Amino acid sequence: MSDCVFCKIIKGEIPSIKVYENDDIIVFKDINPAAPIHVLVVPKVHIECLEALNQDNIDVVTKIHAAILETTKILGINTDGYRVIVNCGKNGGQTVPHLHYHILGGAEFGEKII
Ligand code: 5GP
Ligand code: ZN
Repeated sequence: MSDCVFCKIIKGEIPSIKVYENDDIIVFKDINPAAPIHVLVVPKVHIECLEALNQDNIDVVTKIHAAILETTKILGINTDGYRVIVNCGKNGGQTVPHLHYHILGGAEFGEKII
């Protein structure tokens, strides 16, 4: 997707602060952090949102979750805990239409929506 901001970050056309990367996944700091630690776990393949997952691409979910575990170790938040959020579509508040998981950490989040 040529006009996708996360595809541009993946291609190196937009700079980002990378925290972890492998063949399938990139993790970088959110430009507008909502917590002391706020990174985005992004598959390198352009998948619009959770609703765009199907039998052919759903393996990426395992890769995303494996990358989350690597990332929380790298960031040193694996023992104290953290929050993972995926926004999907208009009502989910998704602003970048390229599947991504937010990892928020470095503070205790008392308030919960659910
Ligand atoms: P969403 O609202 O779609 O769940 O999350 C999109 C996130 O991407 C937001 O938290 C926003 O701050 C972040 N973001 C948007 N554009 C950029 C960018 O160019 N670089 C980085 N690092 N983060 C971005
Ligand atoms: Zn994209």
